[in-house]
Amino acid sequence: MPLIQVALPTPLRRLFDYWPAAGQGLPQPGGRVLVPFGRRQLVGVVMGSTDQSDIEPAKLKAALSYLDTAPLFQPADLRLLRWVARYYHHPVGEVIQLALPALLRQGQGVHPAQDPRWQLTPHGQQEELAALGRAQLQKALIEQLRAAPHPMTQKALQAAGFSTAVIKALADKGWIAPFILPKTSLPQLAPAPSRSVLADVPLNLTAEQKQVVQAILPQLQRFHVHLIQGVTGSGKTEVYLHLIQQVLEQGRQALVLIPEIGLTPQTLARFQKRFNRTVVALHSGLNDRERLDAWRQAMEGQAAIVLGTRSAVFTPLPKLGLILIDEEHDASFKQQDSVRYHARDVAIVRAQQQKIPIILGSATPSLESLAKVEAGLYQVHYLHQRPQQQEPPQPKLLEIRSRRLEGGFSEPLLSNIQKHLDAGHQALVLLNRRGYAPVLMCSSCGWIAGCRHCDARMTWHREPARLHCHHCDHQQPIPSACPVCSHSPLLPLGSGTERAEETLQTRFPDVPIIRMDRDSVRGKTALQSKLDQIHHAGPAILLGTQMLAKGHHFPLVTLATLLDADYGLYSSDPRAIERTAQLITQVAGRAGREQEGEVIIQTYHSDDPRLIKLCAQGYAALAQDLLQERRQLGWAPYTFLALWRAESPQKERVEAFMQALAGTAQELACADFLQLQRLGPVPAPMERRQGRYHMQFLLLAQQRSVLHQQVELLLDWCELQPLARQVRWSVDIDPEDL
Ligand code: ADP
Ligand code: ZN
Ligand code: ZN
Repeated sequence: MPLIQVALPTPLRRLFDYWPAAGQGLPQPGGRVLVPFGRRQLVGVVMGSTDQSDIEPAKLKAALSYLDTAPLFQPADLRLLRWVARYYHHPVGEVIQLALPALLRQGQGVHPAQDPRWQLTPHGQQEELAALGRAQLQKALIEQLRAAPHPMTQKALQAAGFSTAVIKALADKGWIAPFILPKTSLPQLAPAPSRSVLADVPLNLTAEQKQVVQAILPQLQRFHVHLIQGVTGSGKTEVYLHLIQQVLEQGRQALVLIPEIGLTPQTLARFQKRFNRTVVALHSGLNDRERLDAWRQAMEGQAAIVLGTRSAVFTPLPKLGLILIDEEHDASFKQQDSVRYHARDVAIVRAQQQKIPIILGSATPSLESLAKVEAGLYQVHYLHQRPQQQEPPQPKLLEIRSRRLEGGFSEPLLSNIQKHLDAGHQALVLLNRRGYAPVLMCSSCGWIAGCRHCDARMTWHREPARLHCHHCDHQQPIPSACPVCSHSPLLPLGSGTERAEETLQTRFPDVPIIRMDRDSVRGKTALQSKLDQIHHAGPAILLGTQMLAKGHHFPLVTLATLLDADYGLYSSDPRAIERTAQLITQVAGRAGREQEGEVIIQTYHSDDPRLIKLCAQGYAALAQDLLQERRQLGWAPYTFLALWRAESPQKERVEAFMQALAGTAQELACADFLQLQRLGPVPAPMERRQGRYHMQFLLLAQQRSVLHQQVELLLDWCELQPLARQVRWSVDIDPEDL
């Protein structure tokens, strides 16, 4: 009899074999099963079946039950998930967790109407109640289920006085398990509605927009990567809407990925207003139930458009016809823990596997994408103009080396702000630093408030008053005097958004200062109410972090300014300059949408040739230089990188593991991997973080296949190596932050 191959949420890079559930045949791939795993029960996904197992037949266990009567994932979805597991060298069972909404990971039914039911597991049927110790409610629940003729619904159990906590505790202990009513084939693909696709009249495209649409339209039936490089406000979204319309007319679905903070209610509303079709959003602000509802509508084909952040790339879409990635350069598309995938790259593979087009859009494309254009692999389309609007202004550098700063502002900048306010306009001030001041120092002995757990300074916050480490979240009260020499008061150095706000309030007492950062914009509706405030304010100053730079359209803003451009100029991370250039361009894009605008960048390095080039010739020109530099350095995107990270509270353990790893890589290199370069191991840029020591080891190769073979061998080594069990380690393919 064939065995089921199941992907389970464990750190092991393999599938697990089970006999089919008692009295049942083989389940279809793509559905969930409940299986025994050690003393626990796990929800897994069926990947396939096999006649042979490495495990003796007598030792194999049977699945407990099948949780879906029809597959959640189609073969194409499973193929993508397998690719992700292989490429990022991550257990497929954990990769699949990314693709499942939380409620489905927990074993609940796909349809809300199915009130979850609970049944006894074999363990729960046979075990002595005494094994539950003094948990009286848990014992009572088991007795109730033993007495009941059928599995009981959650509602019935709750009505009988058992809280969800009691139910969950028993499920965790393996006494009870969800029971799903068998039903006939679930995903009946929704037929395409007959009403017309358009709900609203589209805008008349400009000549430029038309050209882009017409270049892409004939290629909608095949795999092709398009890059739309268009200045902010050039009407990229309008182009997306026209292309999506065509895809919907064919009865197919579109997947639109946007950055973490790019999904505002306005974006969603714009898509919903245009089409007579269901548009769903998948983002981190949803609760579990909302997420499952949106996901199900996508999976069953009812949702024509899925608008989502990073992990939405895994949403099953049976009729997928087009993928769009807006702001494709955005850092939030790369996941920085667990499965370290890049949603843009996964989306491109998905498009290729499903033979459909994918469109990347950005005013400041990533160097990766520009290199692909250069190599002739992606087709680039330009949008240079803003329809019916002013051109984005050229940024001007304002040297502050010899100037006195007031809460981060130089006098010329403040008087410029005054000028724009006097004209009845708004000024936008971007400062990528939260809190009052990034450093708290003793002016007598030079003591600086550092984090007890990290090699980092504590940021001084005023609301509420505290010292706060932004790396590990550690917080403590502000000392009233220097702990070393007792001198007081202590001195704030530099400024964050709170201090900038204070300065602006003092200088412009009659002008509304609207602050937007993670401390002042909290909760679901806060962002929207701030945006409303901005739109109704009249002359005002908008002050904030990145949050303010992305995607929004502020018609009254004529002055945009970046308080500190220098952070990325001399960083050890080669990507920092690219990020700074993108930020400056984004900020510039906020100014002068409807009237002529001005952009001012404060810097201590106004002679930096890269800044000068960016301001005079724009992002594209600077990007060409940066690419050239990367090629000469033998760095990504011309070289393939894999980064090993390891951490432990004990420094010696990390060092021992990393040295052994590097030694193994060296030995392997003698044999086969001559073209492979190794850098490190070295301490991570912030060696001590959250009380743990961090090191890293970088592998570089000209050929992707060479790199991946090496990684695979090193992973095999890690899995057998006792040293590896004493540290927390991970491998990051195409790392972004070094
Ligand atoms: P992007 O996505 O490039 O930032 P949008 O598509 O949001 O640009 O367009 C910016 C602004 O220009 C929006 O207010 C939009 O309504 C307007 N717009 C876009 N295309 C046109 C057009 N063809 N005619 C008139 N206005 C347009
Ligand atoms: Zn002191
Ligand atoms: Zn810390």
